[in-house]
Amino acid sequence: MSKINYRNVVAQVMTAVRPHIGAGKVADYIPGLGEVDPGRFGFAVATVDGEVHGGGESATPFAIESISKLFALALVLHHDDRAIWKRVGREPTGDPFNSLIPLQLSRGIPGNPFVNPGAIVVTDQLLSDTGDAYGAIRELLRAETGNPQLHVDAVTAHSEETTGNRDRSLAYLVADFGNMINPVHETLDHYFRQCSIMISCEELARAALFQARHGVRADGSYLISAEDARGVNALVLTCGTYNEAGDFAYRVGLPCKSGVSGGILTIVPGRCTAVGWGPGVNEKGNSVSAAVALRAFGRLTGLSLF
Ligand code: GLN
Repeated sequence: MSKINYRNVVAQVMTAVRPHIGAGKVADYIPGLGEVDPGRFGFAVATVDGEVHGGGESATPFAIESISKLFALALVLHHDDRAIWKRVGREPTGDPFNSLIPLQLSRGIPGNPFVNPGAIVVTDQLLSDTGDAYGAIRELLRAETGNPQLHVDAVTAHSEETTGNRDRSLAYLVADFGNMINPVHETLDHYFRQCSIMISCEELARAALFQARHGVRADGSYLISAEDARGVNALVLTCGTYNEAGDFAYRVGLPCKSGVSGGILTIVPGRCTAVGWGPGVNEKGNSVSAAVALRAFGRLTGLSLF
C-alpha cells in the first residue's frame, strides 16, 4: 500500500470544496439546526496509524444527528450481535429517512438501522441492554475521542423534542406492531438526546476509527467483532445516506453515513476515516458540500473501493 500524504489531501479537498461551501439548505425542520450559518465548513481525516489532519472548521462542534446511529448500532452489536436482527432489516428502503410508508408495509420491522424507525428500534434495544442508551453512546464517544466534555446541546435536544411528531409517529407505529420494548416516550428521549450530541469533524473521525480497525477501539479492545464491523460498513454503504445511497456509492465509492446537520462520515476499512461538515443539505437530507469533499477525497487518495 502506497503512503498517502493526508495533509496534502486535506488541503486539496479544501480547494475542491470551496466553490460549494454554502450550497444546500439548513434543516430547519429542527429549529435548533436552522440557526446554523450555512457558510461554515470543516473537514478531517484520521488514520489507523494515529494521524489526524483537519481543514477549515474541523474543530468546531456540530450536532451529530444521524451519524449517532452508527455508534448506537455498534453498541447494540457489542452487547448481543443477534437480538437486533430480529427487529430490524438490512435492506435499503429507497425512501426518505423518516417515511412511514415502508414501515406500514413491513409491519413494523424497519428496513435498516439507519432510517429513523430502524434507529429508534436500535436505541430501544440499547436502552434495554444498558439502562441508559444515550449515556452509553456519549461514553463511547468520550472514550474514543479522549474528550470528557462531549455533551448534548440542550437547545437542539429541546427542538428535536418539541418538533419530533414524525419520529413519534414512526415509533408508535413500530410499537403498534409489537416491536418496541420500552415506552415510546422513554426511547425517544434517548434518541433525541443522542442526535443532539455536539462533536467536531476531527473528533468524529477519531471516534469512528474502530470501523476502519475492523472493530478495535482506541484502547486495543474489541468493540465488535471483525465480522460485525465488516457488516456495519456494508450497511453504511448501502443504507447510510438513505435514498441517495446508490448515488453516493457511484460518486464517492466508500461507505458514507450522513446526518441532517450536515456531517458526513466515510470509512476506509484498514486505512482511515474522514468527515466533512457543511450545514446546507439537499432534499434527501445529505450535505451538499460534504458530499463534494468526500468525492474529492476518494479521488485524490485513490481509496475509492470501486
Ligand atoms: N434527529 C433527526 C430526526 O430524527 C435525525 C435525522 C437525520 O439526521 N437524518 O429527524
